[in-house]
Amino acid sequence: RSLRETPGAPDSKPKKKLAVMTSGGDSPGMNAAVRAVVRAGIYYGCDVFAVYEGYEGLLKGGEYLKHMQWSDVRGWLSEGGTLIGTARCMEFRERKGRKQAAANLIEQGIDALVVCGGDGSLTGADLFRSEWPSLVEELVSDGRFTAQQVHPYRNLTIVGLVGSIDNDMSGTDSTIGAYSALERICEMVDYIDATAKSHSRAFVVEVMGRHCGWLALMAGIATAADYIFIPERAAPQNKWQDEMKEVCRRHKAKGRRNITVIVAEGALDTELNPITAEQVKTALVELGLDTRITTLGHVQRGGTAVAHDRWLATMQGVDAVKAVLEMTPDTPSPLIGILEEKIIRIPLMESVKLTKQVAAAIQEKDFDKAISLRDTEFIELYESFISTTIKDSTAVPESGPLRVAIVHVGAPSAALNAATRAASLYCLANGHKPFAIINGFSGLIQTGEVRELSWIDVEDWHNLGGSEIGTNRCAAADDMGAVAYHFQKNEFDGLIIIGGFEGFKSLQQLYSARSQYPVFNIPMVMIPSTVSNNVPGTEYSLGTDTCLNALVNYTDAIKQSASATRRRVFVVEVQGGHSGYVASFTGLVTGAVSVYTPEKKIDLHSIQEDLALLKENFRHDQGENRNGKLLIRNEQASSIYTTELIADIIAEQSNGRFGVRTAVPGHVQQGGVPSSKDRVAACRFAVKSVKFLESWNEKAKQAASHDDRQLGFRYVKGVKTPMLPNNDASAAVICVNGSTVSFKPVNDLWQNETDVELRKGHDIHWSEFTKVGDILSGRCNLRKEV
Ligand code: ATP
Repeated sequence: RSLRETPGAPDSKPKKKLAVMTSGGDSPGMNAAVRAVVRAGIYYGCDVFAVYEGYEGLLKGGEYLKHMQWSDVRGWLSEGGTLIGTARCMEFRERKGRKQAAANLIEQGIDALVVCGGDGSLTGADLFRSEWPSLVEELVSDGRFTAQQVHPYRNLTIVGLVGSIDNDMSGTDSTIGAYSALERICEMVDYIDATAKSHSRAFVVEVMGRHCGWLALMAGIATAADYIFIPERAAPQNKWQDEMKEVCRRHKAKGRRNITVIVAEGALDTELNPITAEQVKTALVELGLDTRITTLGHVQRGGTAVAHDRWLATMQGVDAVKAVLEMTPDTPSPLIGILEEKIIRIPLMESVKLTKQVAAAIQEKDFDKAISLRDTEFIELYESFISTTIKDSTAVPESGPLRVAIVHVGAPSAALNAATRAASLYCLANGHKPFAIINGFSGLIQTGEVRELSWIDVEDWHNLGGSEIGTNRCAAADDMGAVAYHFQKNEFDGLIIIGGFEGFKSLQQLYSARSQYPVFNIPMVMIPSTVSNNVPGTEYSLGTDTCLNALVNYTDAIKQSASATRRRVFVVEVQGGHSGYVASFTGLVTGAVSVYTPEKKIDLHSIQEDLALLKENFRHDQGENRNGKLLIRNEQASSIYTTELIADIIAEQSNGRFGVRTAVPGHVQQGGVPSSKDRVAACRFAVKSVKFLESWNEKAKQAASHDDRQLGFRYVKGVKTPMLPNNDASAAVICVNGSTVSFKPVNDLWQNETDVELRKGHDIHWSEFTKVGDILSGRCNLRKEV
């Protein structure tokens, strides 16, 4: 759905009076959602109100329903919590309370409500909608309004946004605030790890999640915990202690210094008895471990939103307004969700029903059903945690151990190590042998160094930035003969390339060299990992989220620095090569006035437009929120309009009304600790990749037993071994597109989707960010006025 297709594009008469509110527990990103609803609402010609203090404000009415202006939400992207307040309101659970709320809305002429909250808040909202006609009738028969007065308000429109740190809503992959809470947990556990390692201690960390184990599961994966307890997968009564001890004992025996166990606050055993942090501690003490408990509590809720939540809340807020405008009285209330990278609409009450079914399944002790009701990502990651951390295998698989090579190619990005760790642990738990190619293909060509990775080598690579095995931009074709020689010598059965565009290019080169060097007739897979997110065929690369978080923190800090001097503009130069993804995303989530990308021509006209917008912005900036303004420029946006030149032109043309500075975060974007989202995705993609190698080796074996005349052979330790059927699909890139994750053949991507010269894909999958960014920055309004 494109914004331009929305019925009733902007015109002068107010279309709808809509109100936005936050309800239930607060979560980071709620302010971004309110900002998006307010500004998109105004842009589409609506009158927008904010309901202060949740349903309590709806019941009180009057000043609690505030008519919002464009500038009221300035600076809200970088604020934590919810600035319009939230509350739990018992009266709204009663019909009498809802009748009062209806009266207050009719008084203001409001008949559409965007509610950002948890399943309780959204259930209440849907009930309110279903009762609305009868509530209105009652208000007329009570004499509070005449039939004529209520005539325009016969139906109430409700749209739901899920604001919850627990990520407990079915039907959507993530909720607004969940990744921010996860980020906070990871930061805290990383701190704890340092001291735990020093003293060889065990830590039991209790995290939030009364009915949902998402935070505990993701934190378990992202912090390399030894064991987790979640409500959906109840631990066997009276046996969990021994099972947990066995895993921890094994990890200690392998050389791990610290032990971490993550417990969701709603963790249960199979008889529904709560599993408490204290009980877990007792079991660990029995194992002889010096054990401490840390309950993270409200630290998880606090702080500002991470880049992902700012983006999610912004895109969903805009879609909520579009949904309000498109809905008819017969449309079921929608919930705005997300599947992988795609914003979706789903029937609100179906999601609430599914969410409640999880709790019911837990109560019925049907834990298989409980976990199956969670989304695909949750299930896959639960299995990944088991197969990398809990499972142990010394048995060699029937088809023999696979010798899996892992190589990093390109500039460092934050999750290279996390992906290598997960791939290695999965290999080791399944009887395979992981090998690191040291220092990329140039390392292999020059020194031939290949190192077998052991459990203890990789176990704490989950939160290390950079590359522990070394990375290099050199592509495989620099000396294909040497690469083939070392592949033959090491008898690799499969290859995982983790990296950016050069990695992609190397995969294509290896694929193309198969006819010349039969040794490359093994399954090969690439995990995109680059801050630029420029690998063709996918919308998501590891490392990009870390880079975006770094940019969000950086821009928050420089904007804040300008609050003392008041009138200051920053031209921030970001990475991305010839791809404008990072710049466009950053512009959207930092509320930049303008974004310069290689995809969009910069000229004097566009800079003039920026100037007009800056002047307009500063004109309305009164009192608080007088922070700096941002212009985001991709490093390759133009060879003429450099960052300095743009800053100089704007400074010159501002006639002293504001000062202009340049800011270049540089390598801060590549380095640092990987974000929780990148760590979790690294684990998911790495496990999927080894499974891909397993399945292709299995296919080769089966094909050989059917008709070996069609197959080539290679020699492994002098034994004639079948090669893969020469199939394009056996050399692939793991890609995320909208709501799907798939392996796409590299040859197809290279032939049809790659701009080799500009080192990126043809598809500009982020173009919607620019459109939304232009609406929310006010640029579109300015153009209308012009
Ligand atoms: P969280 O996930 O943070 O708990 P939530 O939205 O589920 O968020 P609740 O306390 O369940 O939080 O609900 C918030 C408010 O929504 C309640 O205080 C009440 O005003 C309203 N509400 C919840 N459930 C209902 C319901 N069944 N009928 C009417 N109103 C409800």
